[in-house]
Amino acid sequence: MANITCKALSKQYDGGAPVLHPLDLQIDEGEFVVLLGPSGCGKSTMLRMIAGLEEISGGDLMIGDAVVNAVPARERNVAMVFQNYALYPHMSVYDNIAFGLRRLHTPKDEIDRRVREVAAMLNLDALLERKPRAMSGGQQQRAAIARAMIKTPAVFLFDEPLSNLDAKLRAQLRTDIKRLHQRLKTTTVYVTHDQLEAMTLADRVILMRGGRIEQEGTPTELYRRPRTLFAAGFIGTPAMNFIDGVVERSGEALSVRVKGEAWPLHGPRFGRLQDAQAVRLAIRPNYVGLTEGASPPGALALRGTVELVEVLGAEALVTVECAGERLAALVPSARLPAPGASVTLEFGMQDLHVFDTKTEENLALELQYDTADPPLRTPAARPMAKAGVHQGAI
Ligand code: ADP
Ligand code: MG
Repeated sequence: MANITCKALSKQYDGGAPVLHPLDLQIDEGEFVVLLGPSGCGKSTMLRMIAGLEEISGGDLMIGDAVVNAVPARERNVAMVFQNYALYPHMSVYDNIAFGLRRLHTPKDEIDRRVREVAAMLNLDALLERKPRAMSGGQQQRAAIARAMIKTPAVFLFDEPLSNLDAKLRAQLRTDIKRLHQRLKTTTVYVTHDQLEAMTLADRVILMRGGRIEQEGTPTELYRRPRTLFAAGFIGTPAMNFIDGVVERSGEALSVRVKGEAWPLHGPRFGRLQDAQAVRLAIRPNYVGLTEGASPPGALALRGTVELVEVLGAEALVTVECAGERLAALVPSARLPAPGASVTLEFGMQDLHVFDTKTEENLALELQYDTADPPLRTPAARPMAKAGVHQGAI
């Protein structure tokens, strides 16, 4: 096992524009880190530099205590799993898994013991004699993971390994990978553009954007405390609601004007907001309350018309049109409004993020529940929770 350190690591291809701007990163031994970001932001490039498959343009990369910039891939003791399964088609699963150890001239009975051990871990026992083409995508990818695991690498690298699988297999293999990591504790760097995958797998998420680190933290930190508008929009399902507003401050009184309504704000969290500042408010659908009646005076609320009701199971996503803006509320599906109904959306001040429209920075980062431990609130404990505000999960 090993830790990984990047110091001002950068990359440009053949004198082109920088693909990775100098970035610093520390990955601890045994940690499961996910590089998350939209397509083209430099995730694979970063991973391939760690693997030794891509030349480093600037800075230092260390695995353990050694700078490995010039160390060839095969001497780095890393194993990589790619999006396409990359198995040898003419070999059985057994031979595919054993391949790496045979090349190292490992004794035959030890190879056999280790192949059966990793095969058992990945539920491949019954498939060892199969050829890859006779297996499902999920089975093939499990075999590819087994092949990467067998050499007990110091570092495990995954580049979108689940992208080619259907949703059910993806969820299954995600659980397998997580379980495997809990058992082996191998330092892992995992690349994906899928925020759900990142949130469910990672000890720590590195959110990337345009060759830079946008924000890093535990899944919960990124979910609760997005530092930028980009992070707020990228993390969490269903996606964050955004509404434009303008701050009104006169003396002690603070409010934000939204679609003609003045929403009063109070508390130290909003201390940075300035009069006439243009802001983008953000709130997650699972913190939006939906009622049919009017809202009490002073509530942070908007009237609107139900446009769409999507039942997801126990919950439903209700899309409401409020003065030209579409906002979503995730509510229990037991009592749902019909499309076309007039409703009130209510927003808890404690759940509201406020971003500067120009800098896109979060101006009120410390959500109220960050100071309360534990953050769990039941619907009944919330003043506005008549019909369906409830604690959201990631
Ligand atoms: P991601 O994995 O996040 O989708 P990549 O690391 O593959 O992103 O690519 C980052 C950027 O680098 C993209 O703009 C891509 O076009 C560019 N790029 C990737 N590989 C090469 C290459 N071999 N030569 C030139 N540009 C490349
Ligand atoms: Mg990629």
